[in-house]
Amino acid sequence: MNAADSPRLSPPDRYGVVGHPIAHSKSPFIHAQFAAATGQHMVYERYDIAPEDFVLRLREFFDQGGCGLNVTLPHKEAAARFADRLTPRARLAGAVNTLRRCSDGAIEGDNTDGAGLLADLQRLQVQLTGASVVILGAGGATRGILAPLLQQHPASVYIANRSAQRALQLVQDFAAEAPVHCRLRGGGFEQIPAGPADLVLHATSLGLEGKVPAVPSNLFGSATLAYDLGYGITDTPFTLAARAQGAGRVAQGLGMLIEQAAEAFWIWRGIRPDTTSIRHELQA
Ligand code: NDP
Repeated sequence: MNAADSPRLSPPDRYGVVGHPIAHSKSPFIHAQFAAATGQHMVYERYDIAPEDFVLRLREFFDQGGCGLNVTLPHKEAAARFADRLTPRARLAGAVNTLRRCSDGAIEGDNTDGAGLLADLQRLQVQLTGASVVILGAGGATRGILAPLLQQHPASVYIANRSAQRALQLVQDFAAEAPVHCRLRGGGFEQIPAGPADLVLHATSLGLEGKVPAVPSNLFGSATLAYDLGYGITDTPFTLAARAQGAGRVAQGLGMLIEQAAEAFWIWRGIRPDTTSIRHELQA
């Protein structure tokens, strides 16, 4: 191949992450590492876009040749409305965290949060079959993880949310996904069934303000894994609080973040990057 044919002379394919705020996002670092490790000619940038500008700015991005976007809070449900079509798992979630421009020009919405969480729980050797699971929060992230979790046949899933009505809506929307022997229920934080639970997933955005939801003191026990979808380098406000309240094991969502990014990278580039080395790098 001569120099004129080299794909390196063409502009890199453009990707990015859109949120509001977005400065804290580690996704640009993760995707840059994936691209370097797999030899992909691409760039990945942060886009801080307010809800009122979401549709216009996304149209611009894709009209100008952008190939794909990750979507984070508060835009996941708006992204599901923006997409021309949805994958089955995104349709089920009603929330999109990955947008891709397809060869026919259509924008496809997908949701990789559930796959990312399950991959990380597998790494942590969590037994989901027969487990009692409590999810704190009923926003876009919960919508994304709920169906994949139910498919693992837990004994029960309770969704607790500040606005109980939103949790009850999720119970209704996902009732058909619950296996026969799984009790899927929802309500306010104060109605969480007596614990301890096997797995408590924290999926509110309170951590961004350094806060945690107030939950019954018996929710955590020595066999409980308290998993924060929010992430930091080490502990988060939730993992600290859960440990102080008796959780035997805690984990935060850095692993899920990396795994959902790997799934998005696969959707965009058709290559599954290794996630182990980048997790060690980020933790270091
Ligand atoms: P949403 O904005 O869609 O939902 C926010 C949730 O937080 C709602 O349940 C909301 O309750 C609750 N909440 C907000 N403020 C308060 C408050 N003051 N008191 C009690 N509850 C509150 O966010 P997402 O679902 O998209 O994200 C939730 C978290 O999950 C974020 O921290 C996000 O970073 C993290 N996440 C991590 C991922 C990872 O890969 N590690 C992937 C996806 C998300 P209400 O309905 O009552 O407003």
